[in-house]
Parts: sequence; C-alpha cells; structure tokens
Amino acid sequence: MAVNTILQPGEIEGSAGDIPELRLPPAALFASRAQRLKQLAEGHSLADYLRFIAVLVENQQAELDAHPEIPLPDATLLANCREYAMPPITPSGWPRHPHWQESARNLADTLYDATPAGGRESIARFLGQEKEWLESQANLLLEGRLDGLDLAAAPIIGAALQVQWTWLARQLQAHQIARHEHPNLCPVCGSHPVASMIRVGGVENGLRYLQCALCGSEWHLVRAKCSNCDNTKDIGYYSVEGGKDVVRAEACPECRTYLKVIHQDKDPLVDPAADDLASLALDLLMGEEGYAKSGINYLMIHGAGDS
Ligand SMILES: [Zn+2]
Ligand SMILES: [Zn+2]
Repeated sequence: MAVNTILQPGEIEGSAGDIPELRLPPAALFASRAQRLKQLAEGHSLADYLRFIAVLVENQQAELDAHPEIPLPDATLLANCREYAMPPITPSGWPRHPHWQESARNLADTLYDATPAGGRESIARFLGQEKEWLESQANLLLEGRLDGLDLAAAPIIGAALQVQWTWLARQLQAHQIARHEHPNLCPVCGSHPVASMIRVGGVENGLRYLQCALCGSEWHLVRAKCSNCDNTKDIGYYSVEGGKDVVRAEACPECRTYLKVIHQDKDPLVDPAADDLASLALDLLMGEEGYAKSGINYLMIHGAGDS
C-alpha cells in the first residue's frame, strides 16, 4: 500500500476556461474497452473472467453499431434541462425504449455460445424470462436496489442498458448539456461514475475526467477533490503493492468513500470500466481500510455483504 497527499486541488489545471467540461462517448467505446479487457487478461489471476466480460463488451459494440433510431429529447426539453442544470436523459425521467430488451437477449445469446456447457444454466434461465421480469430487474439495477436483484443477470441487463444510453448520449451535443451541480453525477444522464481517469494529449492533458457508468460520457473534475462530498482536505491515494500505479484509489477521510483514478499517462490504452474490473485487489484493500466504493460498475454488481 502506498499513500500520498501531496497534490492540491486545481494544482494541475492551468488556465481554466478552455477545458472541455464534457466529452460525449466515442463511437468505439465498447470496442476499445473489449480490447483493453483482453490485454488486461494476459497473465491475470482473473483471466477467464476478464475474457468472458470482453465477449460481452465486444457484443455491446455490435449492438451499438446496429442500434435503431429511437425517440430523443426535443429542443425544448434540452433547453429547459440546460437552463436548470438538469441531465436530460436520466433513467427515472427519460423512458427507456423497449429495444434494450432485444439487446439484452442478443448479448445473452452470444454469452451462451461462449460459455462451456456446464456454466450455461444462469444464462439459459435469463433467456427464459418474461418482459415484465426484465423491466423490473432493470428498475432495481438503475435505482441501485440490491433487494430482489438477480446478481447473475445484472451484468447482461446493465450491459444492454449501457448500449441504449450510450446511443442516446451520442446523439446529443456537448453544448446542449449543462454541468450538473453535483460533481459525482453525470451531466447527461445523472448516473454515478464508474471511475475517473487522468487523460493525456491535447488540451485535456493532465486533466481528470469522471466516466459515467451508464452512458459513457466523461465530465471534468479537478484532481485531489472528493467527487462524493466535495471535500479537498487530506485526500489520500492508495495502490496495491507491486502494481505500476496505473490504478489508484482516491480516498476521502470525510465521507469514507473512494473513487478509482486510472492513469492514461502511465498506460495509453486504459479504460475506466475495464481497469476497474481488473483491479479488484484494490477494492479488497480499500474495504479493509474501511472505505466504501463510490463508483458503480454495471458489469459487476456486488451483493450486500460482499466486500
Ligand atoms: Zn451518463
Ligand atoms: Zn468525501
């Protein structure tokens, strides 16, 4: 474990004003993530798991690429949301299109084929579920309610919802979206981040962005500041002994939560969601240190009582 508290908030940021506050998700979001998962799987103790998730994520890209046109917020709604700094496509305010269910079944079909015969039971069960069950599971997942959530089905449902919300976010333009008043919530869909990333290159060099767990949008937040409670005092950084510090946990002594910081400056191919899954050892360490995770990863939902 390594800890340092040297960095001060805003220290890295140069002249404010020209910083892109919002980066909407790129067309190849899932393809890049799948590639990163396969790279991380090499020599990893969770190699089989990471490769399994890579199959899921590769097929998220196929679903995104083939996504049909579905309704979008109109100009009036976007303008109102912008005026009041409200995210325009929150899961509770913007009705999800039933197409997500078709994506979920397509993803499950592919996983079924990619899974050895002995491990297919939960996927087969998923494929036999009714529409109403899928909708109620999606509600539980999006509302963060673990009671009644099928933990085996959650990654497939989460992956399908990510596809729809990423498609929606990609139809919007950054200037239509206002910054959310709470730095821990996505300005586009109001969801929590999966992790944050220090970017390299261009005007974003050295800047920290939080990536949305649902729609893949990224929003800027100064470094060394707790995204959960705004605290800037005594922020600590933890990493796993022997790692290359590509992934560190930014821990807040005020609210006792942490968010991972993924360093693109230490590895250009990082992906917040993929690197989060591959750094479970850091989550275990932070649990032992008494910190709760403020990031959400829809590809791995922990039950109550899991650490
Ligand atoms: Zn979002
Ligand atoms: Zn805090």
